[in-house]
Amino acid sequence: MPIATINPATGNTERTFPADTSAEVETKVARAHAAHLELRRMSFSARAAAMHAAADALLADVDQAARVITIEMGRPIAQSEAEVLKCVKGMRFYADHAEEFLADTVLADPARVGASRAWTRYEPLGVVLAVMPWNYPLWQVLRFAAPALMAGNTGLLKHASNVPQSALYLGSLFEGSGFPNGSFQALLIGAHDVHAVLEDDRIKAVTLTGSEPAGRSVAAIAGSHIKKAVLELGGSDPFIVMPTADLDEAVSTAVRARTVNNGQSCIAGKRFIIHEDVYDDFAGRFASKMAALRVGDPLDRETEIGPLATRGGRDEIAELVDDAIAKGAAVLAGGTVPDRAGWYYPPTVISELTDDMRVVMEEAFGPVATLYRVKDRDEAVRIANQTTFGLSSAVWTTDSDDEDYFVTRIEAGAVFINGMSVSYPELPFGGIKASGYGRELAAEGIREFCNLKTVWRGAAS
Ligand code: NAP
Repeated sequence: MPIATINPATGNTERTFPADTSAEVETKVARAHAAHLELRRMSFSARAAAMHAAADALLADVDQAARVITIEMGRPIAQSEAEVLKCVKGMRFYADHAEEFLADTVLADPARVGASRAWTRYEPLGVVLAVMPWNYPLWQVLRFAAPALMAGNTGLLKHASNVPQSALYLGSLFEGSGFPNGSFQALLIGAHDVHAVLEDDRIKAVTLTGSEPAGRSVAAIAGSHIKKAVLELGGSDPFIVMPTADLDEAVSTAVRARTVNNGQSCIAGKRFIIHEDVYDDFAGRFASKMAALRVGDPLDRETEIGPLATRGGRDEIAELVDDAIAKGAAVLAGGTVPDRAGWYYPPTVISELTDDMRVVMEEAFGPVATLYRVKDRDEAVRIANQTTFGLSSAVWTTDSDDEDYFVTRIEAGAVFINGMSVSYPELPFGGIKASGYGRELAAEGIREFCNLKTVWRGAAS
C-alpha cells in the first residue's frame, strides 16, 4: 500500500511520501530510546507542563489539524474539529491526573508480610510502538501518546498508510513542547516493516488499534518476544431497544450511533436489535431518518455523511450489503453505490437477515445498519453475543430489571444504557473476545505500559 494522501472525496492522490529507509528507522529508534532515559527522570510537574504546552499548540491549530483529518479520510469537517478538541481534552486530562494515577500504594499492615514497609510503584517500560488506524487519525493516537508520555514512556507511531500527513503532524507535535526531543516520532513504514521494529530490543511493548488480522499478526510477534501488547480491534456492537425505551430518543441516537464518522467507528452501533412490540415503529422512523441524511463534500459544513476513507473500504461495505441482498435481505434505505467521484456509500438499513449472510457475523465498517426483530430479552442477548466481537454495546430500557439483565449478560467491554457508546478520557475503554485485550484511557490506560514494582523493606536492624 503506498504511503499517500488520497482524498476520498475525489479519489485524487494529493501527496505521496517515501517510506523511511532502515537507517532512518534506526535513527528514530535510537532517539526514542535516548529520550526515554531522559524522560523517565523528569518530574510529573515538568511532564505536565510539557503536555499542556503541546495541548495549547494543538488548540491554536485546530482549523489546520481538522482540515488534515478531513482531506485524508473524509470525516465531515465539524466532526474533525470536535476530534481535535477531544484530543486537547485528553492531553490535559493526563497532564492533570497522571501523578495521582501512578502514585505509590502502601500496604496498611506491613507486619503481615514481615516488613517494616511494603509498597508498589509504577515505572515506565521504555519505547512503545503504536500501530494505529486511520479512522480517528489524531484521537486514536493521542489517547495512547498522552498517558504514555506522562508515564515516562516514549512512543514510535506507525500510522495507517493513508494518513501520512496526520502521522507527520503528530510526530512533530511534542517536539519543542518540553519533552525530550524524540519522545514521540512518526515512522513512515508499511505494515510489513512492523515485524522488524517490534523485534528490536529497545522496543519494550506495542499497542495496536485496527482490524482483527492486524491484531493477530502483531500479537503473535509480541508474544514470541515476550513483550506486552494492548489490542483495540474491531467491533460489531449491538444496540438493543426494549418496549420501555423513549423511542424518539432511541431512534435519533441510533442514527447518530450508526453514522458518526461516516459509519467508521469501532464502537458504532452496528446491529440494531429491536423488541417486536416497537420494531415496526422503530424501523420505519430509523430508515427514514437515515435516508434523509445529507451526503456530500466533507469540507461543506452542511454535510452529515462524507465518503468512506478508502476505495477498498467502500468496496468491502458494498460487497457485504450485496451479499445480504442476494440471500434475501430487505433494503429499507440506501443499498447502492452512487454514480459519483469519490468513495461514497449511502446510509443503508437492511432487515430480514439470515445467518448465512456475511454481515451477520462480520463488522460493517461504514454507514450500514442491520435490523433484528426479537421476541424477548433472551433472544436479544443471544443475537448480541453471537458475533466473535465484544467491544461495546448499548441498551435502551427504563426497566431496572432489564437493565441488570443486559449489563450482566452482554459480552462486551462496555454497556451504555439509554445512550450511545462514546470514549471518554475518564472511563476505561477496550474489548473482550476478538475485539482485543487491555484497556486505554482512565487510570487503567496509563498503567498498561508500566512495570508495577513491589518494594519490601525488612525491619531495620
Ligand atoms: P487495519 O487495516 O488493521 O490497519 C490498522 C493499522 O495496522 C495500520 O497502521 C496498518 O498499516 C497496520 N497493519 C495492518 N496489517 C498489519 C500487519 N499484518 N502487521 C502490522 N501492522 C498491520 O485497520 P484499519 O482498516 O485501518 O481500521 C479499521 C479497523 O480498526 C476496524 O476493524 C475498526 O473496528 C478497528 N478499530 C478499533 C478501535 C478500538 O479502539 N477497538 C478503534 C478504531 C478502529 P497499513 O495502513 O500500512 O496497512
